Amino acid sequence: MTSFAFETIGRIHSCFTEKFGIPRQPNLVPEACAVLELLPGFQHSDAFRELEGFSHIWLIFVFHQCHGRGWKTTVRPPRLGGNRRVGVFASRSGFRPNPIGQSVVRLVSLENRKEGSRLHLSGIDLLDGTPVLDIKPYLPYADSLPDARAGYAVAAPAPKFQVVFSELAAQACRSLDARRYPDLPNLIRGVLAQDPRPSYRPPDDRKSFGMRLWDLNVRFRIEDHQVVVTAIDPVSIDT
Ligand code: SAH
Repeated sequence: MTSFAFETIGRIHSCFTEKFGIPRQPNLVPEACAVLELLPGFQHSDAFRELEGFSHIWLIFVFHQCHGRGWKTTVRPPRLGGNRRVGVFASRSGFRPNPIGQSVVRLVSLENRKEGSRLHLSGIDLLDGTPVLDIKPYLPYADSLPDARAGYAVAAPAPKFQVVFSELAAQACRSLDARRYPDLPNLIRGVLAQDPRPSYRPPDDRKSFGMRLWDLNVRFRIEDHQVVVTAIDPVSIDT
């Protein structure tokens, strides 16, 4: 057998409704949250028995926005500034022969209800709508190897910017429903401190950007060593 068909067992509902701004690995932004909704046929509470004993889980998922878009033997990882190429198998890029990703994320809580099972997650690096193929418990004794060599990615990328809010943006944060947009200021800080701009942009790039979180358009400007969040507006229907 050389080809296999797998079924989606659940779908991610995440704060990241577009690729721009998604952290480049899990756990870089602890406030990045998601709900994994199990699909009919995979909602048996029995299948999750004892899972709540684990603080973290592995998610095996499909890079669905890369699917069908091909792959190259080499890629330019953002942390190398976007100008050095490494082999696709020495990278975690979504553009790979089988666009399968894996992330260790925090399992905040497990909801097993008659209407369906949902996993509340944080520290995610996943696009809204990501199809999940499997869930496994994270085992520190086997999966955490503090002495491992890590090639060109020795440590987590240091936050690049300080993030400040304009009065308008701070006011918008205060007036938005905190249940619908949990921990919004810290989420924005965490995401923007990492500098979400593509690393291969030309040097004279524009300075003003928009990033989508849930149904919000977060506008920001880059100034020397800081990011200024200038406005936070609901995304209009026609954008
Ligand atoms: N931790 C995973 C993913 C690393 S790449 C792994 O190592 O396999 C993370 C990037 O994948 C994010 O920054 C985002 O740009 C992209 N991404 C996340 N979900 C995606 C999806 N469903 N389809 C395509 N790209 C996605």
